[in-house]
Amino acid sequence: MPLAAGRPYLAIPGPSVMPDPVLQAMHIPSPNIYEGEIDEVMHSILPDLKKVARTEGNAAMYIANGHGAWEAALANITRPGDKLLVAVTGRFGHGWADMAEGLGLEVEKIDFGLKSIIDPAQVEDALRADRDQKIRAVLFSHVDTSTSVRNEPAPLRAAIDAAGHPALLMADCIASMGCDRFEMDAMGVDIAITGSQKGLMVPPGLSFVFFNDKAKAVSSQNQVSRYWDWTERCAPEWPYQFFGGTSATHHVYGLRKALDMIHAEGMENIWARHARLAEAIWTACETWGQGGPMTLNVADRANRSHAVTALGLGGGNGQRLRSWTEKNAGVVLGIGLGMAERGDPRGDGFFRLGHMGHVNAHMILGLLGVIEAGMRALEIPFGEGALGAAAEVIAKG
Ligand SMILES: *Cc1c(COP(=O)(O)O)cnc(C)c1O
Repeated sequence: MPLAAGRPYLAIPGPSVMPDPVLQAMHIPSPNIYEGEIDEVMHSILPDLKKVARTEGNAAMYIANGHGAWEAALANITRPGDKLLVAVTGRFGHGWADMAEGLGLEVEKIDFGLKSIIDPAQVEDALRADRDQKIRAVLFSHVDTSTSVRNEPAPLRAAIDAAGHPALLMADCIASMGCDRFEMDAMGVDIAITGSQKGLMVPPGLSFVFFNDKAKAVSSQNQVSRYWDWTERCAPEWPYQFFGGTSATHHVYGLRKALDMIHAEGMENIWARHARLAEAIWTACETWGQGGPMTLNVADRANRSHAVTALGLGGGNGQRLRSWTEKNAGVVLGIGLGMAERGDPRGDGFFRLGHMGHVNAHMILGLLGVIEAGMRALEIPFGEGALGAAAEVIAKG
């Protein structure tokens, strides 16, 4: 008997769960885009976004998904023919590199596979080998959403500095911002990008680029696109300049509310909440894995994201479990991404859990309970005691 009626939980790694207050804030008639309240609301957003990214630098907004922010950041600091170094730990690094090639940039990739973090020594070697210092920037994913690998920015900063190289450090924080601890200035990141629909709890459609004055100085030499140009967007004189055209009015109101919620909770508390909820998930999954086929993609807890967890169940079990939880329990799990070539049936063995943004203890315990119910129903073997072990983690507070 399906038990799915009731409030569903979209436990995929973005879009994330939308808080009711965010949805309600968006449910308004069209505001005037030229003057009045919207001007005030938009001016209030940039400083509050910068507090999320922990930067005293600059912020620009775009009406685009994360792919748009990838291109915006690149278009501001490069000219065709420039070179980039991309450190890849899953699918998203390849995507950013591909976008760079489309812009006519020369890309050097170092691929660290699907289970490992970036080795800063290899980044340092590649920069030392760039004797003419042609590499404009080092690109990486803070969290790669396909593998759930988390790369710490500070060791990469140290590698760039050790090589004495002027390259900018550019972080894709689309999955991590507002979930995993990220302090742009303190960690030495020059450009960070994110999107609205993951840790920021707003529907897809907005993205953000944070950049320090060093990156701004590079852009003043290289800006090649009027539309992506961050110059006016980060210091607008009138509302039309925030988005280089009509504002994303309703998203702006949703984002205003989301930022209120984020700063009422506090960044430290948000990071701690995500860390504890992730610990509960890992504890359950590791316990299940002791008596069955479940595996966590990233072996070392220190290298795992607190926002997304990539898992394997073997055979077609990832796909079977996802169908079961959706039909029978109202929980949608994420598909496996980048673990096998598209069309390869081995891909059906993988799945992912999104635990980013508006998630709390009861949602995570519910998610885990549903996964165990699904494995029981599908007769997928698993180790006993996972739910109790997860509850013990939650009980720590
Ligand atoms: C979601 C995501 C993207 C892509 O964002 P879109 O909004 O789908 O364009 C890129 N990088 C990372 C790390 C992501 O998590």
